[in-house]
Amino acid sequence: MEAIILLGAPGAGKGTAAEKIRELTSYAHVATGDMLRDAVKRGSDLGREAEGYMQRGELVPDEIIIRLVEERLDAGRADGRYMFDGFPRTVRQAELLEQSIARRGGRLRAVFFLDAPRAVLVSRLGGRRICRKCGMNFHVVNIPPRRAGVCDACGEELYQRADDEEATIMNRLDVYARQTAGLIARYEGRNLLVRVNSDTGVDALVSAIRSRL
Ligand code: ADP
Ligand code: ZN
Repeated sequence: MEAIILLGAPGAGKGTAAEKIRELTSYAHVATGDMLRDAVKRGSDLGREAEGYMQRGELVPDEIIIRLVEERLDAGRADGRYMFDGFPRTVRQAELLEQSIARRGGRLRAVFFLDAPRAVLVSRLGGRRICRKCGMNFHVVNIPPRRAGVCDACGEELYQRADDEEATIMNRLDVYARQTAGLIARYEGRNLLVRVNSDTGVDALVSAIRSRL
């Protein structure tokens, strides 16, 4: 297997970029946040365990995340290509991912660090709206839907994630600074880090990533 990682603060645009890259390449999009929200919606044991942490904007315990990711990799092809979005988020998760890749005889090709100023992150998160049905992302100012509150792709209602409310946004950015930002140095030290400016349109961001794949 072959893996790439999209690293960056909440609001850096990982999910939006990942969806475009998935359409244009053979990389499968593995987003732990989406997998967790799905588990919460289904009301599974794992979802019930994770829900409180997510609502508070805290990290879900590493053991739960690793279980999710391992199950996903076990279900996929041995020679698959994976693009991780929102994972790893702690040193422990990074270590376990490296072991998991090694066990599968795979390699980590690159880590893309999507970088944007804090003010941009805050305004992106606060204005984000998501389709209930197909998951497409919009923004009240930057990417408005054609009809307010309605998905362009499937006509369903748009909603705001509970953790996109202002107090929780601040907490998520602090958690990122405390627990995840340290991974930048880890991958830089291994010559895997590619910095990309994400304070641009999504197309520029996606071509910057694709030019390195
Ligand atoms: P964002 O990057 O915008 O915060 P995500 O959808 O990636 O959004 O994550 C939403 C929430 O899910 C996080 O705040 C956290 O509670 C949980 N989560 C997602 N991925 C992980 C992870 N790798 N480790 C721990 N918690 C995670
Ligand atoms: Zn939709």
